[in-house]
Amino acid sequence: MKPGNCLLACLSLTLAGGAALAQNWDALGKSWWSHIQFLADDSLEGRDTGSRGFEKAAGYMAEQFRAAGLQPAGVDGYLQSMDFQVVRIDESRCSLDLLRDGKAQPLKLGDDAVLGVSSHAAENVEAAAVFVGYGLTVPELNYDDLAGQDVRGKIVVLVTGGPADMSGPIKAHYQSGEERRKALLKAGVIGTISIMNPKSAEVPWSRTAGSRFQPRMELSDPGHDVPPPLPLSIQFNPAHAEMLFAGSGHTFQEILADLNANKPLPHFPLVVQVHARVGMTRSEGKSENVVGVLAGSDPQLRKEYVVVSAHLDHLGIGEPVNGDRIYNGAMDDASGDASLIEIARALKDSGAKPKRSILFLSVTGEEKGELGSQYFAAHPSVSGPLVADLNMDMYLPLFPLKYLEVQGLDESTLGDDVRAVAGQAGVQIQADKEPDHNRFIRSDQYSFIKRGVPALAFKFGWIPGTAEEKTFKAWYAERYHAPADDLSQPVDLAAAAQFDAILEKLALRVADADRRPEWKAKSFFRRFVQ
Ligand SMILES: [Zn+2]
Repeated sequence: MKPGNCLLACLSLTLAGGAALAQNWDALGKSWWSHIQFLADDSLEGRDTGSRGFEKAAGYMAEQFRAAGLQPAGVDGYLQSMDFQVVRIDESRCSLDLLRDGKAQPLKLGDDAVLGVSSHAAENVEAAAVFVGYGLTVPELNYDDLAGQDVRGKIVVLVTGGPADMSGPIKAHYQSGEERRKALLKAGVIGTISIMNPKSAEVPWSRTAGSRFQPRMELSDPGHDVPPPLPLSIQFNPAHAEMLFAGSGHTFQEILADLNANKPLPHFPLVVQVHARVGMTRSEGKSENVVGVLAGSDPQLRKEYVVVSAHLDHLGIGEPVNGDRIYNGAMDDASGDASLIEIARALKDSGAKPKRSILFLSVTGEEKGELGSQYFAAHPSVSGPLVADLNMDMYLPLFPLKYLEVQGLDESTLGDDVRAVAGQAGVQIQADKEPDHNRFIRSDQYSFIKRGVPALAFKFGWIPGTAEEKTFKAWYAERYHAPADDLSQPVDLAAAAQFDAILEKLALRVADADRRPEWKAKSFFRRFVQ
C-alpha cells in the first residue's frame, strides 16, 4: 500500500475507534498547530491587509510552500501583488441626524449607528428614507422589495435576510454587496440603512461598533462589471432602531414580529429625513496573495487547476476587548493556511502524482470583502482554467470530527466527491444548517463561484441540542472577530489533522477525475458559467 492510501485507511481505523494509530493524528495535529503558532503570534499583529505583520505571514507561507515542494505560481515568485484604495473614517468630522418637523435629533455614532466609508462615499447627504423590508430584488422570482416604492434620490432602510420561503442560495446571492448595489443603483437609491436581522446576527452590536475604525479597502483594479459603492451606507443598532420608525404608523417591534412569524414585511415611507456628514481620509496600499502549485502529471489535464484556498489576512490591531488589542485570527483563518501547508506536505510525502495541477492559494484582503480572491479570479497568475475551489475559512475544529458541514453541497458534483471521501473516513456529511448566515457567499469561494467555478466550503458539523452545538455557538459569541480568537483557545488538534486528510483526498480525487466538476442542472449558481 502506498503511503498515500495508508492515510485513508488509518483515518477510518482511528475514527472507528482503533486506538493504535491515534498517536499519528496527534503528531500531525501538532505540526498543523505549529504554523498557527507562528501566524497567530502577537508579533504578527493580527495580519491586517497591507501591514508589516501580514508581510511576515506571506513570507512564512512562501517559505512553507517551497519546503512542501510546491512550485512558485505567483507573479513574482510565490507572490501576486495588488494595489488598494484605502479609506478611513475620521469621526471628528462625522455626524448623523434624524430630522423631524424641522428639528434635528443627533445620533450617537457607535452607539446608535455606524457610518460606512468608501471610495464613492459622499461627504454630506440629506435625504428622505423609505422602509423597504429586506430590500431585495430577485428577477427570477418576480420578487422586488423596491417595486412601487418612490426610492429615487432616497435612502432605503432594510432588515438583512429574506423571506423564509426563498431558497438559501438565492437569498444569499441577492444579498451580496454587488447584487444589492446593482439593483439599488438602478432604482436611483443613494444610500442604505441596514438593520441586522436579530435572527441571524452573529456578533453583538458592540463588536460591529468596535470595528468601524478599520480602514475600508477596495481593489484599484477590481475587474470589469463591478458596480461602485453607494454614496451612503449606514448600519443601525437593532436595539435602537425604533427611533427610525417613530411617527410612521409602524414600529420596529411590529416588523420583528412579522419577521419572526415569516410574514411578508410592510413597505412604507418614514417620516424622518436623514442627514449624514462623513469625514474620511484616503490613501493607497498594497498586499499580496501567496500562490504555489503541485504540477499535474497528465499532459492535457495538467493545464487545469484545482484550487485549494484559505485567507491569510485578519483584522490587525483594533479596539481593545478585556485589555487585548491584537486580533490574532488563529481560527480565522490561520487554521486554513496551516491546512494548506499540511495538505501540500502530505501530498509531497505520499509521492502523489495528480493528473490535474493543484493550486494552493493563500489570499489577502478577505476581511476587507474577499479582495485577494476577487483579484486572483479576475487576474489569475496561471494560464489554464480553474476547475474547482475548495476553500477553508475558519472550519472550526473545536471538537472531534464526526460530522462535516459542507456549503454548496448540493450545487455541484463536488458534493458527490466530498460525500465519497468523507464516507471512506467514517465522517458524516451535513448540508448547511444555517443557510440564513449566507456562509456559501461569505468567503473566498464566492469569488470563484461568480466566475462559474464550482466550489465548496466547510465547517465542523454538529447535531442540534448537543454540547458541540453549544461549543460552536459560544465560539461565535466570544471569539469570532474578537481578540479572543488567539492561541490560548482550546482546539482539537487531532481532529484538524483528520480534516486535512479529508481535504487532501478530496483535492486528489477532483484532480484525478476523468471529468472536471460541474454545477448540478438545477443549481442557481450554474448561471455564472462563462
Ligand atoms: Zn473573518
